[in-house]
Amino acid sequence: MSKSVIIVAGGVGNRMNNKLPKQFIEINKLPVIIHTINKFIQYNSDIEIVLVINPEFLETWKVLTKKFNLLFKYKLALGGKTRFESVKNGLEKVTKGNIVAIHDSVRPCVSIETIESCFKTAEKLGNAIPVVNVSDSVRILSNEGSKHFDRSLLKLVQTPQTFQYSIITKAYLQKYSEKFTDDASVVENIGIKINLVEGNKENIKITEKEDLLIVETYLNHLKSN
Ligand code: C5P
Repeated sequence: MSKSVIIVAGGVGNRMNNKLPKQFIEINKLPVIIHTINKFIQYNSDIEIVLVINPEFLETWKVLTKKFNLLFKYKLALGGKTRFESVKNGLEKVTKGNIVAIHDSVRPCVSIETIESCFKTAEKLGNAIPVVNVSDSVRILSNEGSKHFDRSLLKLVQTPQTFQYSIITKAYLQKYSEKFTDDASVVENIGIKINLVEGNKENIKITEKEDLLIVETYLNHLKSN
């Protein structure tokens, strides 16, 4: 089955108080989003790439493609106000019938094994999302205060979240709801069971400034291996 990846880079990165959204920040002389794209090309050089870029940063993207002489083929979609809207715009560009991975541009440390497991399981079972165990102790909040909670009952969810075309396009016909924090929550809401595969711990989402340092370390480590 032919494969596509939608790389969502439609956010404007308000949480980091940086004028430049985190996906365009350079780590090891390459923008985060390029590190991310390279992972998918490394996995499969024939993969269809759909990039979702915020309209405000199209010029930034153009400048980067010149500066880094980027020659890979891709389709462009425009980012929306929410991630949901950005994914929806990306889906319109995907070739009908392909198996579709949806990945955050700000997760450049995804491993090839994680990408492979997601595609393999989604091809077999209809969908797959990567998860990792929680290593900290956790507490659950209530009106009475907080209480210890069994962390073995929890998983942290990553991307690429991967789906058969008919499933993901049907799910994204729904009206947006605030409870849709990722693609799995959108698909689950039409009554489909979500399959979990093992993610990789390094596959963190760059959210705060400190995450840039962690990702730099991981990228250096991966390079030297
Ligand atoms: O904001 P958050 O950290 O959840 O963003 C995760 C990913 O979704 C990022 O790669 C971001 O660029 C993307 N996004 C998007 N459109 C939005 C908001 C976020 O493509 N409106």
